[in-house]
Amino acid sequence: MNDTLKGSVTSTQELVQAAGRSLYPNYRQPEIVFSYGQGAELFDLEGKRYIDLYAGIAVSALGHAHPRLTRAISEQAGRLLHLSNYYFNEPNIRLAERLCALTGMSRAFFCSSGTEAVESMLKLARRHFYSTGQPDRVRVIAFEHAFHGRTLGALAATGQPSYREGFGPLSPTTHLPYGDLERVKEALSSDVCAVIVEALQGEGGVLPAPPGFLEGLRELTTRAGVLLLADEVQTGVGRLGSFLGFQHFGVAPDALALAKGLGGGVPIGAMLCRAELSAALPPGSHGSTFGGGPLASAAAGAVLDEIEASDLIARARTEGAYLAEALQGLATRHSSVVRLARGVGLLQALVMKTPELAQDAMKRLRAAGVLVTLAGGVALRVTPPLNIERALLSEALEVMDRVLGEMA
Ligand SMILES: *Cc1c(COP(=O)(O)O)cnc(C)c1O
Repeated sequence: MNDTLKGSVTSTQELVQAAGRSLYPNYRQPEIVFSYGQGAELFDLEGKRYIDLYAGIAVSALGHAHPRLTRAISEQAGRLLHLSNYYFNEPNIRLAERLCALTGMSRAFFCSSGTEAVESMLKLARRHFYSTGQPDRVRVIAFEHAFHGRTLGALAATGQPSYREGFGPLSPTTHLPYGDLERVKEALSSDVCAVIVEALQGEGGVLPAPPGFLEGLRELTTRAGVLLLADEVQTGVGRLGSFLGFQHFGVAPDALALAKGLGGGVPIGAMLCRAELSAALPPGSHGSTFGGGPLASAAAGAVLDEIEASDLIARARTEGAYLAEALQGLATRHSSVVRLARGVGLLQALVMKTPELAQDAMKRLRAAGVLVTLAGGVALRVTPPLNIERALLSEALEVMDRVLGEMA
């Protein structure tokens, strides 16, 4: 670690006060300012160490300051930072090829975030039916507790009323209980263009798709002639122990959205689709100034290189199994405060008995130097870097054991 990065003349208190005066107050940050990270550890301005079990919301797939990613970013920055889509660049073309191969899709469109990737899929669905003579197919079927992003299109699909409150009128959407195939069957009327779904609802509380659900959706959408859209923003890029969450369930969607872990911390999103959909968005119909840029593409290329070189998808399975078993043990031992443990791969959660207990547990864990996030109000979500070392994981689990014991 470079000494100039470590020390700081500004105090936490000064920065927190400045934030309170100048940042838009749409978040509720605690009074901590992070200074640097190394692997799955973070250090704040006061020098306090934290074990990072949240990875910037499942983004920092390689942990912090990974040499391969750092090198790729700095080399690309020194070569070519930005062009726009007026011209091709090699890192982006190579990335498109690799993502198509990894997902079984034929085409890749790039943007800079998850919500834009979802927005692109929704526009793809609408435009596909417009150009194939079914312009009335505008409705989307989505699921309760789903999270698809915050732009107006993605927000319409998001199945959490509190996120939508005050932003209507939104695009026509029908929200159904996650897992209820009968209701989907009934709702597939002639105005529906797509069903959008997560293989595991991340923000909704770490709820894996019930057995047979994605397979059933595949069957129903194929029969109805509507698109099945996979929101893989949180579940994709290896987190569930397969490159896509859908692959864990053996189902192929018509299009999918990636973001979060794809750039390892550099903003990038991607929408991939089947060959049949490549005429839906003709030149001029959709685009992005930053999307597909050489810097973000080189970063994502380095993330894929490292996933391959260090077999991180297999690690997500083995470490995920270790984590799941340990969380199961915590749920049993602390059953007065914990309801259950659930998850797939390295996207796991301890579901607390009440939202108050979840809040309290997250704060106590943070004070004890372990960072997790809340999902669905009651779940303590654990999404560490894919390459987290077993020793750090078990150290964090010991802290969780102690903290939960104190709460009982
Ligand atoms: C985080 C998330 C999004 C939104 O991604 P942003 O990059 O925040 O726009 C969309 N869908 C899912 C499933 C997510 O977890």
